[in-house]
Amino acid sequence: MGYLPQLLAVLVAHGVVEAGVRWNTGSTQAWLALAFLPVPWLLGYGCQVVYTRGHFRLGGALHTTMRHSAPLLHGLLLACGGWDLWLGEVVGHPLSLYDWPSAGHALLALPWLAYELVTIETRTRLYIGRREQRAWRAHQVRNLAATLAPLGLYFGLALLVGLVPDLQVRIEEIGLYEAVFLVVYVALLAWCLPHLIAMAWDTRELAQGERTQRIHALLQRCQLTGTRVREWRTGWQLTNAAVVGLTQRSRLVLLSDALLAQMDDDEVEAVVAHELAHVRLRHVPFFLAYALGCVLMLDLWARHYQEQVWLAGGIMVGGLALWFVSFTWLSRRVELQADLHAMDLVGQRASMIRALEKVGGRLRDVAGWRHFSVRDRVAYLELCGRDPYVRQRLERTLRALAIAASVLFLVALVLHATRLVRVAPTQHAWADLRLGAWSSAQTRTVQEEPELSALIRRASELAPDEMDAQSLALRARGAAERGDDEAASEWLTLAALRAPYEWTQLAATYSQGDRAQARTELYERTQYDNPFLRK
Ligand SMILES: [Zn+2]
Repeated sequence: MGYLPQLLAVLVAHGVVEAGVRWNTGSTQAWLALAFLPVPWLLGYGCQVVYTRGHFRLGGALHTTMRHSAPLLHGLLLACGGWDLWLGEVVGHPLSLYDWPSAGHALLALPWLAYELVTIETRTRLYIGRREQRAWRAHQVRNLAATLAPLGLYFGLALLVGLVPDLQVRIEEIGLYEAVFLVVYVALLAWCLPHLIAMAWDTRELAQGERTQRIHALLQRCQLTGTRVREWRTGWQLTNAAVVGLTQRSRLVLLSDALLAQMDDDEVEAVVAHELAHVRLRHVPFFLAYALGCVLMLDLWARHYQEQVWLAGGIMVGGLALWFVSFTWLSRRVELQADLHAMDLVGQRASMIRALEKVGGRLRDVAGWRHFSVRDRVAYLELCGRDPYVRQRLERTLRALAIAASVLFLVALVLHATRLVRVAPTQHAWADLRLGAWSSAQTRTVQEEPELSALIRRASELAPDEMDAQSLALRARGAAERGDDEAASEWLTLAALRAPYEWTQLAATYSQGDRAQARTELYERTQYDNPFLRK
């Protein structure tokens, strides 16, 4: 998922401009989208010119800017060109990140994707030798596609749900429905992920031979015969192995081309054994339980301080930072455990250590986020050979933590479910009002929310065919003419629930802002509409 940071930066940029941080030029400048297109190439070219003249610091800075230019340019286009506003005008309604995804939303990211492709092309032409260009470019484009795939799947599912507006509104308003939607999405994602990866990354069957036979024998020893092992063609860019997929049938072990080329049969067997050890020791469910348990608990805690936005945000951000640190600690030890079990599976320490050294290469002393450095991993394997107690201690600690993570997850799940069931009637009532189902809203129990109760009471005056926002606006006008501002404000709020783009602004002004001005606008917008003529 090599383009995840870029994707996150783009999402943050959208969040920032929606919060109102943008250069106000009075009108949108969508042409900037095209004007920015050659910028990554110009930066790359400039970098080369500066390098050849010996200005290495400047060249380095230009290179870094070029590599990260796509999200930067997209952010600039949003902030200075109002790309999202312009696109909203074109499709006929505002495109907010917080709204249900529509086809228009998919176009929002188009400039970023175009800039990313120009950046890939620039890097290919300027820095990659002629013979490797095709493989390198294809590897990068596939990587980009793989990063976008989960979002694309979410989009597809959301667009499908959008075809049934009633269901869409219920999922948006009712936590229980939303939870079911999310579970369906995650299940679909888990099911699709190995297929998506096999498709988005260039993978192929392993060549037949002794090596493949040994891998199959190893799978048999582990009772994981459903698992497929494939070669992952990265254009010799990566020395890596990975396991994806949660179920026996969807599971896939990937061995990169560079790894297969560098290692002998013993070492490849040790690498596969390491990946299978992750499966047998259920590391992925363990990580999922820990991550979901933490996020759900933090969410519950933050909700407690809903009114104090900064405190709630602080709890989430601080909690996630702590989770990140603890996950680094945990993940590194889990990797040690997988190394030890892989050693048991292949029956020797030497090939495991040789394989580790080859993966480490020149970076053997450098630790990654989730791994200790190769030097430390090798030292640990040797230590465990000398002192079995060290291994016992690690296994005991990890077992206790796995149990703790499962308990945390289950408790969080029960607490959330209880909360969702408790608030469901209120949320159903809001959904009813948005859908114009006035009589259904009256059957809900919502005593603890005075605003909602008032709206439901008001809606009970309506005839079943008075469902559209315009009828509600006419009611508001009638109330305003009688001088009943409370009623007028409630009718406008109901109109805003039915047609948010048209009436939200006016409803807010009427209840909290300049009421005289709001009244004038209400009269103007309803003056040609006579309820008696319409009936
Ligand atoms: Zn591992």
